[in-house]
Amino acid sequence: MTTLVAPDAVVPLANPYDAARRQFDRVADRLGLDRATRELLRAPLREFRFQIPVTMDDGTKRVFTGMRVQHNDARGPSKGGIRLSASGSADEVRALAMWMTWKCAIADLPLGGGKGWIDCDPRALSLTEQERVCRGWVRQLARNVGADSDVPAPDVMSSPQHMAWMLDEFETIHGRHTPGFITGKPLPLGGSAGRVEATGRGVITVLHAVLEAMNVSAGSRLTASVQGFGNVAKYACRRFVERGGLVRAVSSWHSGDECAYTYERPEGVDLDELERLTDAFGAIDKGGAARLGYNVLPGNAWIEQPVDVLIPAALEGQLTAESVRGLDGRVRFIAEGANGPTTPEADEALAARGVTVIPDVLANAGGVTCSYFEQVQSNTGSWWSREKVLTLLDASLSRAVDEVTRTAARDGVTLREAANLTGVARVAEACRLRGWV
Ligand code: NAD
Repeated sequence: MTTLVAPDAVVPLANPYDAARRQFDRVADRLGLDRATRELLRAPLREFRFQIPVTMDDGTKRVFTGMRVQHNDARGPSKGGIRLSASGSADEVRALAMWMTWKCAIADLPLGGGKGWIDCDPRALSLTEQERVCRGWVRQLARNVGADSDVPAPDVMSSPQHMAWMLDEFETIHGRHTPGFITGKPLPLGGSAGRVEATGRGVITVLHAVLEAMNVSAGSRLTASVQGFGNVAKYACRRFVERGGLVRAVSSWHSGDECAYTYERPEGVDLDELERLTDAFGAIDKGGAARLGYNVLPGNAWIEQPVDVLIPAALEGQLTAESVRGLDGRVRFIAEGANGPTTPEADEALAARGVTVIPDVLANAGGVTCSYFEQVQSNTGSWWSREKVLTLLDASLSRAVDEVTRTAARDGVTLREAANLTGVARVAEACRLRGWV
């Protein structure tokens, strides 16, 4: 049966920076951090906000806003993606940068946290316009980022091609090759084997490691419902199926607009089939999916599916106290592929229902871990095989899961609190050792 429905309106989300600071305050209380350390870690060390004038294809001029936030670099150069989005905000970038700081520390990488943003909808720009916007972002920041200070990467709606233009602009300005300036590069420009699938694959590695640590049997066949069908979601789905699971539903934008739909099939979605219907920005063609017999449901219906695991892998603020009321009783795990998909209120409601949330800072740490491997290769002129990268990646994530689950069991806290306790404590210690606090 195919059901066609009216699209979900795009709902304004809670402020992610408020959520990030509330999570931090909780952990700071538990760790008994002193006032100066709290003040330092509760806000970014540095922020850059600037304008990017661009000549459009028709000769007219447009001015885009760009931003880079370096939340903390006590443990190493800032690290974090660049989001291309017309619906972002400065607070969103601040929140994402703060989460990056904890994430790098939880994964025990010698990196700090950063995040970038260009206020644009790349789907409405030609490729040459996108190139000029990317180069403009780098021109404004070229002296404040770099292999030993701040290393960008792809994020929502940015791709290896965008990274390639940014690298070229950076190297042109500085007059030398510095492939370690950016990660998520195409392979011929010094990208790492395994990077494209690292985040999504990592989500599933972490999920299975948590199941194992909690002595939960995956049962006959684990089922999942996923939000998003972009970089993270696609590879998470693939890995989930490779490890014996069944993906029952996927939610994404419909090509060409910002209406979201859920594509559901009780016997499991066909990932190859859906990929053929997906554009470069992870939007699935609704008409094509309907013709193939998918049930086309409202965008939020992915939350209400009778599955074992929900994988939010699109945007922040998607699981709210209200939306998780519709959760099916079968759901036991939420593996956060996206950054900040669960609000603090939803976190509490989920804990009360006995649902285990595997937090973003752990679940999607595969991306930055592999980016770090790419940095090491770029900075040392070496090349690692995909097998080596993925073996190191799985081992690193398993170590992080081990530490976080032990802390959770020892302190009787959720996995999010346990992860943040580890991350914040490590960053606070680095700041103390440097004499900052
Ligand atoms: P992407 O641009 O490749 O894909 C985003 C997907 O989300 C698309 O499929 C889009 O259709 C979908 N989407 C957007 N709004 C939606 C909505 N309201 N309902 C349903 N679907 C919707 O982005 P990505 O790189 O896969 O990133 C996804 C999330 O993962 C972000 O939170 C990002 O910060 C996080 N993340 C990404 C990486 C990485 O390596 N790319 C690493 C860590 C975390």
